[in-house]
Amino acid sequence: MNYAALCKSAPTPFWVYDASIIRNRCAELVRAFADHNVKLYYAVKANDHPAIVALAASAGIGACLVSQGEFERAQAGGVQPGAMLMNGVGKSRDEIAFVLANGIGQLNAESLAELETIAAAAEELNTRARIGVRINPEITANTHDHTTVARRTDKFGLLIEDLPAVRAIVAKHPALDWRGFSCHIGSQIHGVAELAASYRSMAELFRAERKTQPQFDRLDLGGGFGVSYSGERYARPDEYPKLIAEVTGDLQKDGVTIQLEPGRFIVAEAGALVTSVLRVKDSGGAPASDGSPSAGTRFVIVDAAMNNLIRPTLYDAYHPIALARESAAHYVPCTIAGPVCESADVFARQRELPEDVAAGDILVIGFAGAYGATMSSMYNARDRLAEVLVDGKKATLIRRVMTAKELDEITLASDVITRSADD
Ligand SMILES: *Cc1c(COP(=O)(O)O)cnc(C)c1O
Repeated sequence: MNYAALCKSAPTPFWVYDASIIRNRCAELVRAFADHNVKLYYAVKANDHPAIVALAASAGIGACLVSQGEFERAQAGGVQPGAMLMNGVGKSRDEIAFVLANGIGQLNAESLAELETIAAAAEELNTRARIGVRINPEITANTHDHTTVARRTDKFGLLIEDLPAVRAIVAKHPALDWRGFSCHIGSQIHGVAELAASYRSMAELFRAERKTQPQFDRLDLGGGFGVSYSGERYARPDEYPKLIAEVTGDLQKDGVTIQLEPGRFIVAEAGALVTSVLRVKDSGGAPASDGSPSAGTRFVIVDAAMNNLIRPTLYDAYHPIALARESAAHYVPCTIAGPVCESADVFARQRELPEDVAAGDILVIGFAGAYGATMSSMYNARDRLAEVLVDGKKATLIRRVMTAKELDEITLASDVITRSADD
């Protein structure tokens, strides 16, 4: 990608996505499961820009959502409501009614109370809600603490011991069209083996329940396919079908669709956060090129910050960071930091960059297409960044910057909303 040319048309910092990489990742997934009874749903929370969702949709991939806002963005991206499913422990009654009224394909319920709410909303709309029951299989994968979601103490899903109560609620409400189970055990999972235990236990649970629920026709095994941020090995999509066939082949033959919800895998690699160096500061002396600890710290201060890309702060995530121009200088360890007033506003420490990196240089923070823009905030009254989609030679501004001032224009309202707030 020609970052110098892009930076002439767009001031840094900004997000850029490469459409061809997203198409390739989608094609890789579709090809891997072509001979299987498997349906793919892109977890749009990874990157919910309608233009990005549209790339997955044109590969025939549906959408996995957690809010009404995501429903609307997926719809803007061309996904039919029937090809959408919705997760989330806190779907509001209004959201549930909205997606049901708009024909969503499936709601995955995560609590007994939510089942009652879905039933009430569906009854009111005089419709039936196709539901999956999300199970917490209490099986974890080896991932970061914050991306592990299936310990007994995690908030997601229902425990297997809740099933009698689930059956009772479903039996009481004809508006609940219970079609199967769902699960999702975590994100950024390394290998197929880590998923085997949860897939196996979900398939067993499904088989057992189907004996009394003959309408069961779908088993949602979630997302979590990992991405190689720093060159380590992660399973590729074509390694998954073997396990899925081994664990669910009998079900697939029997007409059961296996559903998968990949998010990160589709978009992570395709995106970058492009940022300029504001200044270089050596604290405690210049760094030694052998990285010896007695030397000082070189801070490379850039114009992007943790409010734009929070993954390094939140998950200790690694992102490749490269200088956009050629340099023959030798490399020295640097701490790449943003302007936000938090010591955690650091993209990387002890990261090797050419010694001649200077103010005005462009750095490219790679693998930032997933959980980048979608997780950003306007902390420190900083901009919500512009997004650019590159497709071949053409670069399109798909979202312009939003400044704190623009936010103020819509939020500096002075309407009195109650006179009894102090009771
Ligand atoms: C976040 C999430 C996904 C996608 O996870 P990735 O790691 O991005 O593949 C899928 N399903 C559910 C329920 C999720 O919460």
